[in-house]
Amino acid sequence: MVSTLRSYVEQESPSTSAEAVGSFVSVVAADFAALSPRIRQHRFSISSTNYGPALQIDFRGPRRSPRLLLLGHTDTVYPIGTLRSMPWSERSGRLCGPGAFDMKAGIVQSLFAIRALLAKGPLPCAMTLLLVPDEEIGSPASRALTLRLAQAADAVLVLEPASGPEGACKTSRKGIARYTIHVHGLAAHAGLNFELGASAIVEAAHQVVAISALSRPAKGLTLNPGLISGGTRPNVIADFAEIVTDVRFLTASQARRVDAGIRKLRPRDLRCSLEVLGGLERAPFERSPVTVRLYRIAALAAERIGFHLGETAVGGGSDGNLTAALGIPTLDGLGAVGGGAHAPSEFVVAREMPRRAALLAELMISLANK
Ligand SMILES: [Zn+2]
Repeated sequence: MVSTLRSYVEQESPSTSAEAVGSFVSVVAADFAALSPRIRQHRFSISSTNYGPALQIDFRGPRRSPRLLLLGHTDTVYPIGTLRSMPWSERSGRLCGPGAFDMKAGIVQSLFAIRALLAKGPLPCAMTLLLVPDEEIGSPASRALTLRLAQAADAVLVLEPASGPEGACKTSRKGIARYTIHVHGLAAHAGLNFELGASAIVEAAHQVVAISALSRPAKGLTLNPGLISGGTRPNVIADFAEIVTDVRFLTASQARRVDAGIRKLRPRDLRCSLEVLGGLERAPFERSPVTVRLYRIAALAAERIGFHLGETAVGGGSDGNLTAALGIPTLDGLGAVGGGAHAPSEFVVAREMPRRAALLAELMISLANK
């Protein structure tokens, strides 16, 4: 498992390089080629942006067995060349490198789980493994394919990293919205015609305060105006500024309230105007009864192989949000145990890899008997 993971990590695959993701997908496809004859790649191009291919691998199961969708992604957040500053390393049981934890180790674990099951006969369930190329940028290209395959599935198992050192799975995730607010003012010479100007920057400052006042951290609702820009020179009153705000929420009704709040923003200086772009990116993955039932089945499977599988709620979104919003039982965080996702400290705990693969296999067997 370690050498397979190393070969995956050393094939860099940022979401933004269709070519690099394509090369990585070929490496993964070659590893699965011996396990299924039904492997295909879906290519996407949206308004002249190319994305890497999605990899779909289908496995037959016994007649009338449940159909599972195993969901993961091949892209990482690390640009090409990151390996130079963050090379593959194995130290005191930790496997490090760009994308090792999020989520190349999850792909390796699924490969070994499926291989182990096939060594004993046909798979207990019909199954599709889908690895998308654009999850880290919000799945703009692959979203429709994920939704289509999820609709045909009885349950979705997401190979994203597990949570914490205990490797808890994720039974709820916050939803994400993103707003870009353009502030238009009036330009003027800061010395000669100060009173003729209406500063988009001063106006944006008022709006930033109003936006962050919509946060309710105790209720899991947060707004982060994380990016601002504007102006041209110190001696020019700015006629333009921009605020980009990231919003996280637990429920669909919080999302509706924030959306209404953002759209109700009005300029303090009436010579300025506001323009709101953006909106909902991922609906929240709420802890629904069908997901709790799926979690209980997984927890029993974990018990049979000798460990406790916890559950947790997390702030980050994944493609699990898409499938859970359809009402399909979705269990997330079934991938690697480790930490430091999206950071130079990213690592996988090596000795957990076989156990997580065994959990996936055991869970498929349990689901076949439901
Ligand atoms: Zn991920």
